[in-house]
Amino acid sequence: MSFKTEAFVLRARPWQKADRLYDLFTVHEGVISAVLRSAAKPGNKLAGHLLPFSKVRIMIGRGRQDHLAGVATINDFSNLRGSLYNLSLASAIAELLLKDQSRGYKVKEFMLLEEVLTLLDNLDISAAKKLILVRTWLWKYLSLAGWQPQLDTCLICSQSIGAGKYVSGRGIICKDHDNSGTEVSAELVTWLKFINQADWHELVNQDINKNLNKEWLKISSLFYQSVYDKPSQALKLLAYG
Ligand SMILES: [Zn+2]
Repeated sequence: MSFKTEAFVLRARPWQKADRLYDLFTVHEGVISAVLRSAAKPGNKLAGHLLPFSKVRIMIGRGRQDHLAGVATINDFSNLRGSLYNLSLASAIAELLLKDQSRGYKVKEFMLLEEVLTLLDNLDISAAKKLILVRTWLWKYLSLAGWQPQLDTCLICSQSIGAGKYVSGRGIICKDHDNSGTEVSAELVTWLKFINQADWHELVNQDINKNLNKEWLKISSLFYQSVYDKPSQALKLLAYG
């Protein structure tokens, strides 16, 4: 059996002999791994289309081990690969996507990935802004994956609140319910709601002040820790500044 789908190339690894194993993010099944036979041999035409972070149309031959039977480039995001900094941000995104082994249609996640790679590919956006956009991507991505924090009402008494204490991965509670915990300001709550709803055009034009950014970083690292049990290189880059 074989099928066609669109995919982003997340990672490539040497495999048996001259074969190469590709990890791909597909709209149909999320992350899949497929072998390209003889990928490392000179003149392999398909391998030339499988550059890191390219968007490709692929034909997958299904078997005990999926293999690539056809590849065509849709968008190769060449500017993205032209800068080490962009590559490190894109690699962080890939590393986090690779942790998600759930199958099934990933239409929204696929669109979100395309949007953030398009921003990384854009030469007019500064490096500092790109880092903020990729952090924002991670909040949006985790919200899609079922981790959207409850930020309008207290998790304990359901009272409507605009600031409070942060409960990792879940939302906020009134300050007086708990003596410990990390406080979140009204400004940060507003920011988190904003980044989750805003489109990228708004986000590109949005500036964040130093104090808010610092507070956002602190809450981000708590948030990611609650989702991913062990810290990764990607999270260091995105959540610890
Ligand atoms: Zn409460």
